[in-house]
Amino acid sequence: MLLALLAACAPDFTLSEPGVVIRGATVLPQGDVRDVVVAGDHIAALLEPGAELDGEVEEIDGADRFLTPGLVDLHVHVWSEGDLSVYLANGVTTIRNLSGDTWHLSIRDDLVAGRRAGPTLITSGPIIDGPEGFLTSREVVRDAEEAALVADLQVQMTFAALKVYDGVPAEAWQALIDAGAQAGVPVVGHIPDEVGYLEAIQGGQRTVEHLDDVLAAAAGMEPFPLMDDPHRTAALEAMTEERIAGVAEATAATGAWSVPTLVVMQSYATADTWDSNDPRLAYMSPVTRASWFQSAENLSPSVPVAMTDVLQFGQDVVAALRGADAPLAVGTDAGNPWVFHGYAVHDELDLLVESGLTPAEALDAATLQAARALGQEEVFGQIAVGQRADLLLVNADPRLDTAALQDRVGVMARGQWYDQGDLDALLAEVAWGYQSRGLAPARPATSCADHWEGRGGL
Ligand SMILES: [Zn+2]
Repeated sequence: MLLALLAACAPDFTLSEPGVVIRGATVLPQGDVRDVVVAGDHIAALLEPGAELDGEVEEIDGADRFLTPGLVDLHVHVWSEGDLSVYLANGVTTIRNLSGDTWHLSIRDDLVAGRRAGPTLITSGPIIDGPEGFLTSREVVRDAEEAALVADLQVQMTFAALKVYDGVPAEAWQALIDAGAQAGVPVVGHIPDEVGYLEAIQGGQRTVEHLDDVLAAAAGMEPFPLMDDPHRTAALEAMTEERIAGVAEATAATGAWSVPTLVVMQSYATADTWDSNDPRLAYMSPVTRASWFQSAENLSPSVPVAMTDVLQFGQDVVAALRGADAPLAVGTDAGNPWVFHGYAVHDELDLLVESGLTPAEALDAATLQAARALGQEEVFGQIAVGQRADLLLVNADPRLDTAALQDRVGVMARGQWYDQGDLDALLAEVAWGYQSRGLAPARPATSCADHWEGRGGL
């Protein structure tokens, strides 16, 4: 009798450090109702609802709510520390920055140590390009020897990826692949023109940003700049469903990850709607705003026309990649004009659904698949014991409509809980900081804008 009583009173779980329990939420993607216990920065237990807990624990009501892994954006350009708060406020708990600098490394370390609020930051090194490149800041490599030196340096500096650009010579690209393989650091980014799409992914490039390089490959043409009207028009005219399906099959066979970034194509396709009064501009840094307004002023009218076709093509490729069961994950190219940090992830999810993914598949591409693309599915991207506690609690079921992901109750990043009031306060702080700093540029701006806007000649 006494024993039975003791058993009834015994806690279901004892926390050895202060924690949080989210009670009775539907845990996604599994769909079970659970009490999710977080201790420190990781998920400690998934228990039957109503579990008895022992220890210092903050309770969050998850009843009739949905708990998903935090969202991931695999392609961003962080230019300001304020961007980090904006990601968090949008439910994004991991970002991969693809034009890194040394200051990103110190921010990364501050985030891990809990010295600042924000998503986990993974950053490539500075963009690597060839001598003909046109970016304002880049590492130039002319041959294999220079490429090996740059790769060694970036690996030593603890950058997590080697980001290549359109103009990397073929022998230099090969040297980067070799050095990266040896160091366990992937080569990611654009497809160098000298290498070509299929050759690059068959040769070991881990993620492919944007789908525009698929155009030449599917048309059976040599790579050409996107804003080269005659070539692009010829490629689109030559396009058939069979050609796109063929490249999608070949892509699937390599295991390379496609990061479509449809939202940046959509932004350029609708550049005539770029709104200088968009309220979200308050959360973009002065340097970001300045670069966007400059893009708006200088944009050639041919860009939206071209990008409308390129976006349609990109969506067709996404549908074909899905059909071929090719690895696909979410990235946005945020930092490009009117591709808003944080917010853009939700736009990309909409575009993926419009391209034929189910809402559940789109959510998967922004969570577990994105973690897989980084080789970190054991670390985050799932709601399971031992995973980093990166979570998003929402009021409606995102498996029915991804818009539910914006109906937030709160966000957890590395075990730190932010309710909607906390997130609003973070945003207000960012806007206040930018207002008081005026329009003085804070950081040099490097993104893929030159790629999309066709600068740098043919
Ligand atoms: Zn980019």
